[in-house]
Amino acid sequence: MWDAVLCILIIGGFFILRAVLATVFFFYLLPEGDHCPNCDAVTVRVQSRGWNVLLPRFRTSWCYECGWHGLLRNGPLTPTKPSESLTEHGPP
Ligand SMILES: [Zn+2]
Repeated sequence: MWDAVLCILIIGGFFILRAVLATVFFFYLLPEGDHCPNCDAVTVRVQSRGWNVLLPRFRTSWCYECGWHGLLRNGPLTPTKPSESLTEHGPP
């Protein structure tokens, strides 16, 4: 009886440890900031209800240069000049 419990604990422990290590590995694999991993252009933050609820610490981004969309880690953002802001190009 104890052999079965010990076996389940060891196998379950390795399963949970593997899931935790994979999560940490892929967290640090994601790029930090607001640059596109494909073309290094500045991405735009977009709203994605599912991802923003599931993973609020990540930034759902879309690159308008190459069309890439995905998750980025929160990090330093590229400052924009006031002349490049969207408010200046808005409707009159
Ligand atoms: Zn891109």
